[in-house]
Amino acid sequence: MSADIRPPRAVQLPAVHRVLSDAACQPLIAQYGREQTTATLRALLAELRACSLGAASATEDPADASIAAVTARLADRLERANRSALRPVFNLTGTVLHTNLGRALLPDSAVQAVAEALRWPMNLEWDIDTGKRGDRDNLVEELLRELTGAEAATVVNNNAAAVLLLLNTLAMGREVIVSRGELVEIGGAFRIPDIMTRAGATLREVGSTNRTHLADYGNAIAANTALLMKVHCSNYAITGFTKAVELPDLAPLARRNNIPLAVDLGSGTLVDLEQYGLPHETTVRETIAAGADLVTFSGDKLLGGPQCGIIAGRADLIAAIKRNPLKRALRVGKLTLAALEPVLALYRAPDLLPERLTTLRLLTRPAAAMRALAATLQPLLQQALGEAYSVATEPILSQIGSGALPVDQLPSHGLAIRAARQTHGDPLGTLEKRLRSLPRPVIGRIASDTLWLDLRCLEDAQLELFAAQLKDLVPA
Ligand SMILES: *Cc1c(COP(=O)(O)O)cnc(C)c1O
Repeated sequence: MSADIRPPRAVQLPAVHRVLSDAACQPLIAQYGREQTTATLRALLAELRACSLGAASATEDPADASIAAVTARLADRLERANRSALRPVFNLTGTVLHTNLGRALLPDSAVQAVAEALRWPMNLEWDIDTGKRGDRDNLVEELLRELTGAEAATVVNNNAAAVLLLLNTLAMGREVIVSRGELVEIGGAFRIPDIMTRAGATLREVGSTNRTHLADYGNAIAANTALLMKVHCSNYAITGFTKAVELPDLAPLARRNNIPLAVDLGSGTLVDLEQYGLPHETTVRETIAAGADLVTFSGDKLLGGPQCGIIAGRADLIAAIKRNPLKRALRVGKLTLAALEPVLALYRAPDLLPERLTTLRLLTRPAAAMRALAATLQPLLQQALGEAYSVATEPILSQIGSGALPVDQLPSHGLAIRAARQTHGDPLGTLEKRLRSLPRPVIGRIASDTLWLDLRCLEDAQLELFAAQLKDLVPA
């Protein structure tokens, strides 16, 4: 609010009842209810009054105090107050599996299944064949066995929960041997040493940061060793003079000592990604075939499904895990299972996967598609931004995200926005904020004095919406 457009004396504001009985207000009352509309109107009028009296704290300027103007402000306030806290955004960060933006986007088959599960009673724990109580894990266990080669599987809230439950079940009060090179921290406070403590297990670190040998594991095995564990270095890479013990070497040691071998795969993919032109990531099946007794992995990373954590492996160990009372606390709800099953089912047709599984479709999208999109959008964005900024189409590198293949980047194309001339303040920061303030916020990335919009995750279906709201990009 600026002082110069404020009228010199207190303006005449309309009475509450006059606004409420005005025709323009009726749709608001119908939508938001009389109580909420009245309360919001009273608050708005109080603000306008305070402002007209020159109160420094006032945030509403009563330049126009007509009923129509007040009702328009009221509509705006009500709309803002009733807007969902959780809203769709455009993820143009270039990180496909962005943890802060909800990771994997699900295919329509999963979306439909979730809608059904929300609307109708479901046989979540009910065996339709026998008419008796069932087990919710059974809904997806067969698919998981088929896709991973594991004897059994169970599903919990996320992979952190999977690791916690596994450790608590198999190693409470005992030791777990892990290489010093694999004590990973995942963003959002998941750290192997901490989760180990919370699970009641004792971490027995072996080797050094860059080199761990088979003998290091062997020498650490003692009477109270419960588990050997390997952890995927999801978000970092150790290069140079390095040595890690691979599963085919570690598994015989575990077996000789009759100690289970667990692998936290992190992302964990169910298919060989190389067939789609992506870098290789060890699959769950390969991990089990190489001798892991249990594997844990996320549902919403490379798998492309809902948030969940999957534990797959030896039937006796899975049975023990399912008997742990913590399983009840960490179990998944029906919405998760409703979404997971159709996603897993897509893996039965691996040749069709890049077309059907949203995550894989985005990851395999050719740079030429993004280049064409950038060419279409460049003039529109340049026009919307005016002379203060220059918009160019440029090659860019996307990343998979969520700790999958941190070193590998995918060629993409996007819009590079730079401040056209030396201006005061922070023009890129201002623009970033304006993009975030759009009805469907646009999230980009600022680096090297450039605001980058990677177009990999802007699919044709949302293109119209994206272009349409550029007109709302009014100058700051
Ligand atoms: C991502 C990850 C986790 C945590 O998985 P969430 O599904 O986010 O709970 C645990 N371990 C590794 C190695 C990971 O990459």
